Formats: sequence, structure tokens, C-alpha cells
Amino acid sequence: MTVKQPMPGELEPIETASRDEISALQLERMKWSLKHAYDNVAHYRKKFDDHGVHPDDLKTLADLGKFPFTTKSDLRDTYPFGMFAVPRSQVARVHASSGTTGKPIVAGYTRKDIDTWAHLMARSIRAAGGRAGDTCHISYGYGLFTGGLGAHYGAERLGCMVVPMSGGQTEKQVQLIQDFRPEIIMVTPSYSLVIAEEFERLGVKPEDISLKIALLGAEPWGHGMRDEIERKLGIDAINIYGLTEVMGPGVASECIESKDGPVIWEDHFYPEIIDPETGQVVPDGEEGELVFTSLSKEAAPVIRYRTRDLTRLLPPTSRSLRRMDRITGRTDDMLIVRGVNVFPSVIEEQILRDKRLAGTYQIRLTREGHLDSVEVLCELQREFSNRLSPLELQAISAELQHRIKTIAGISTGVSVMAHESIARTLTGKARRVVDERPKQQ
Ligand code: AMP
Repeated sequence: MTVKQPMPGELEPIETASRDEISALQLERMKWSLKHAYDNVAHYRKKFDDHGVHPDDLKTLADLGKFPFTTKSDLRDTYPFGMFAVPRSQVARVHASSGTTGKPIVAGYTRKDIDTWAHLMARSIRAAGGRAGDTCHISYGYGLFTGGLGAHYGAERLGCMVVPMSGGQTEKQVQLIQDFRPEIIMVTPSYSLVIAEEFERLGVKPEDISLKIALLGAEPWGHGMRDEIERKLGIDAINIYGLTEVMGPGVASECIESKDGPVIWEDHFYPEIIDPETGQVVPDGEEGELVFTSLSKEAAPVIRYRTRDLTRLLPPTSRSLRRMDRITGRTDDMLIVRGVNVFPSVIEEQILRDKRLAGTYQIRLTREGHLDSVEVLCELQREFSNRLSPLELQAISAELQHRIKTIAGISTGVSVMAHESIARTLTGKARRVVDERPKQQ
């Protein structure tokens, strides 16, 4: 493994700026962002007014604590474009991520937002050790998911030759990696191991794989997985973090020389950690829920957006900007399955659309090899129990499987069972989610 130190002059001024310079820039941009949101998004204006705050009340960065939080439900209630701060004619692109209902959460970008995103992704790839002239293989999915296009624009911006492979087709992924010999891969950690296994199956040794660096994100992963990926692919595995509501991948990304947690690109996103119960801001170093305020976004500014991700803020090391620790959990029930966000409520909604099915269900998650596997168990209503033919049961299950795939975006097994077949807990309730996947260390 080679560790590339940045060459003098390679870093942007903000990456080596003093804390005072960073804070001054943040304050100036935060004032702009609050005013932009207040002036142009009716939903923000009402929330600020109801809360008795005005953008002019922000005199210091700490004053941000006076402003109300934004949550997924604000985005859901204003679906699809109610949180946009510019006219539709100025929105260059939209992306979307799963919400808590069948309707997705929509993010919008002006041309300038896309430019900033490409810039921050290029900065992230450079921090990971990538350079202009490298070849970058992208296995994140392209489409509404921010992973593929986000990575793509960033790698192009850095000056890489980009291979827009997208997800799936493991054999082809491996064939192209062997033929095109990329130095960089951008992919979910779990899928990187599937690719590694395919190399193993073909008898290709890690030292013979051209890849040097992987930027891995979109799902939680830990030190154990990092060691395994690095060993099996003979690479440096770098943690990249982001979320659709705030931008997409590249909100924070790790430096290859320290590999000590993603550096938050604080010149564009202001982080806070709050106690998820009280909403109070906690000091750096303490674990809590990560909250972001966008500082430069035009199309869809986010003010104190509660990510629901649990982590802590860490002091600067390789750059002047603060870092975040790995994500240790969530404050809501969102599951991440093969890099795709899934809310149990969305699966429930699909089950309840079939009047023959009862509201009792169980989502069982296991890991087969390196990939998550999901089985949805559901029960028939009493009046249909033991009355349907195997063919009818099969049809119910196939239809539900199809709907879950279409709406939630994940493939699942579906078992339709007789009434009251799912084990109840002592309180009489069925456990909605049984997650038997190994915990990430
Ligand atoms: P999405 O908006 O679909 O890209 O999903 C964003 C969510 O994916 C985040 O809120 C996190 O829960 C998760 N996520 C993204 N990157 C990482 C990462 N590097 N480590 C852990 N979780 C991540």
C-alpha cells in the first residue's frame, strides 16, 4: 500500500487555513444561507417566524442554536419541490433518496451547486490519494441515487479517466478492472468485498489488481471491514460520507495520510452534534446526532438538518477542518440494505395495500457472504388463513415482492404465512425488524 502525502501547493487554501479564517468564512456564509432560506422558502420563513427567530439574529456561529431544526418530515410535507429556494427554471438536476413513506425525499441542485459538489468530490478523491491522470472505476449506482453521478462529476473534475460502470454485474466489473487497470474505485464497502471475492475466485492475487485506493461509503462499516477490504484488494480503503438531503457523497471524506475519520468540508457544511433527546448542542468529542447547515447551497438549502446519524466531531489532523468519527448508529429506524436506505414504514405501507394481509409483519436481515439479504414475513388476515391455494399465496408474495422492489428499491424474499404465525414478544407485539447481520467493529 502506498500512502501519498499531498505535495506542497496541492491543497486548497481552506484545507490549511487557520481556525479563525474558517470561522469567519462560515459566519459570512451562514448569514447568507439563513437569509436565502428565509427569503425564498415559505416553509423556512414560517418555521423561523413560529420560532421567533430571524436571520438577522445570527451574530455568531453559536447563535445557530436559536434556529429550528429541519427533519425528513419537513421534506416529506413539502414534496416534491417545496423546499427549493430558486425557481424550477434554475434547477439543473434533482436526485432522490427514500423517505419514510412511498414518496422519496427530493434534492435539487443549481448549476453552481453541481459545480460545488464536483469540486468537493474532487477534493475528496485527492484527499484519498487520487490524482489527475488516474483511472476511476465507479460502481456506485447511477440514477436518482446520488452515489454514481456524484462520484462521476468529481472524478472528471479532478482529471481522472472515468469508467461509469454503476452497480451490479460483478463478473463484468472484474473484467473491466482487469482490462482498464484503474487505480481508484468508488463503491459501497460491502460490494467492494463482493468484487474482491470474484477476484479470489479467478485466482487473481491482491498484488496483481491495479486498484490502489477505494472511496467507500453509503453504509456503515468499521475497522474490521477496512482491514479485510485492504487485504483482499491490496488497496487503501478510505471512508467517504454524505447524504442526499445535504448534497450526496463528499460532505466529508478521509485523508489517506491519517485515515482517522472523514474530514468535514466545513467551508460548505456547518456541523453540530446534538443530544437527540433534548436537541441541545453537545461539545466536540461527545457522541450524539449529526446536524448540518448548508453554507453555499442555492437550490435546496438545509438549515440545522437532523441527519439521524450518530457520531462525534473530532479535532483537525491532516487538514485544518474538523473530522467526524465513523457512524455508530441511527436515531431512527432506517435500515441500510446493500447501500440503499429502507424505512420499515415503506414496507409496511406496501403490505397493507393488500387487504388479504394483516398488519403484522417482520423484516429479517441476514448477511449471505458479503451481501445483505432481506426476508419479509407477513401474515394473512384471519378470514383468508388456510383458505388460499399455494398458487394464490405465491401470487400474493410475488406481487408484494415486486411492489417492495419498485417502491423501496430493494430485492427481498417474501413469505406469506397463516394468521398469527409470526412469534410475538411478551407484550404481544411482533418484532418488526430482526437484524441478524454481524455488527461492524
Ligand atoms: P443517501 O442519502 O441515500 O445517500 O443515504 C445517506 C445515509 O447513508 C447517511 O445518512 C448515512 O446513514 C449513510 N452513510 C453514508 N455514508 C456513510 C458512511 N461513510 N458511513 C456510514 N454511513 C454512511
